[in-house]
Amino acid sequence: MSIVMDGEALSLKIQEELKLRLKNCMIRPSVAVIQVGNDPASDSYIKRKEKACNSVGIYFRHYKFDEDTPELTIINKIKELNNDEYVNGILVQLPLPARYNEKRILNSISNSKDVDGLTDINTGRMINGRKTLVPCTPLGVMRILKEYEIPLEGKHVVIVGRSKLVGRPLSTLMLAENATVTICHSKTVDLKSFTTQADVLVCAVGIPKLITEDMVKEGAVVIDVGINRVDNKLCGDVDFEKVSKKASHITPVPKGMGPMTVAMLLENIVTCYENKPATK
Ligand code: NDP
Repeated sequence: MSIVMDGEALSLKIQEELKLRLKNCMIRPSVAVIQVGNDPASDSYIKRKEKACNSVGIYFRHYKFDEDTPELTIINKIKELNNDEYVNGILVQLPLPARYNEKRILNSISNSKDVDGLTDINTGRMINGRKTLVPCTPLGVMRILKEYEIPLEGKHVVIVGRSKLVGRPLSTLMLAENATVTICHSKTVDLKSFTTQADVLVCAVGIPKLITEDMVKEGAVVIDVGINRVDNKLCGDVDFEKVSKKASHITPVPKGMGPMTVAMLLENIVTCYENKPATK
């Protein structure tokens, strides 16, 4: 039976650390969240972020735009927030409705306030090994592996999913730790031939039970980033019940990478604030 890596407990521990970091601050840090449209999943993610921000003392501003709002109106709001010295972090809740140019909107966020680490400049900095703001879910994966003292150097890390939000940035972070990295995606032929080689297997796809017991090496560490809803219950991409009998460590869904992602968002906001506190 594997060790279940408790993302919720670690998230709460990180929140306590952040409260200490903010203890002597005169002005509270603040984050602005831009939402476009009425996606119920986005509503619930935003509520979770707001609750976590409130718990550590981060002021939360929520700007919600109708789905027919002109793109320029959204970009102008972001520019206004870029120039607002009381706003330390800005994030755009993804996905945006299809008609918007996501890249253009994300790139209008000031690099120093880009708490999701998604501007082209911050992505380039990360790839070049420079200190920068890094996307929250990959950061959360690295943090939970560190907490459970999982060695990465020389290990074979197989990442299933190559999105800009998770798989791609995670591969860069893993390379920086001297892991050997394989990235799989929807066009990968014979996924199992790769996943069974993994010392550390990360799945970020969005297909329930994509990863079954026979696809995992005995003693592997398994990180399940996926969030799916089946019969009104949350589950990941990994068949937890069966894979947990074979893996050495595994993250659950819920209470795994979801809370870790929120914790890393809070950490990025506090980092932005410490780099550029409000002066008045
Ligand atoms: P995307 O849809 O952007 O990316 C999914 C990736 O999975 C793509 O690279 C796609 O390949 C790949 N893929 C699709 N089908 C298969 C398949 N059959 N075999 C192998 N690879 C496949 O999703 P995200 O990265 O944004 O999110 C992935 C999952 O993680 C979702 O369930 C999402 O809800 C969850 N998530 C959870 C977070 C958390 O906080 N825990 C945060 C962010 C996401 P291709 O590139 O070829 O299309």
